[in-house]
Amino acid sequence: MNEKFNQQNAQQLRFCQSCGMPLTDQVLGTNADGSKNEEYCMYCYKDGKFLQDCTMDEMIEHCARFVDEVNKGLPQPITKEEYIGQMKMYFPHLKRWRQAMKVTDDAMPENPALAPTRITAF
Ligand SMILES: [Zn+2]
Repeated sequence: MNEKFNQQNAQQLRFCQSCGMPLTDQVLGTNADGSKNEEYCMYCYKDGKFLQDCTMDEMIEHCARFVDEVNKGLPQPITKEEYIGQMKMYFPHLKRWRQAMKVTDDAMPENPALAPTRITAF
């Protein structure tokens, strides 16, 4: 059930597969041939290359600085630490990090809290 929900969500809302920010046509990254890349944002991906050569943890630290922006869209503000905690569960499922973290689609947890356990198992 959750899986179906995720798929529907994915169709309606696209997220950058590197930093997790919502993708709109205005912020799409670009491929080497100048066409738009539908999977990454312009802050992560330009001319067919990633702009930052960083680890997933470094990306999370980078994104944590924008917690105030995230809070604008939330009914209840979260702390930077809570935001980091959520990203650490979520980011291993983004395309850019999935390979590095050896998380497969099969391991996509119904409960995100299970993700760190599975990563450690590898
Ligand atoms: Zn991005």
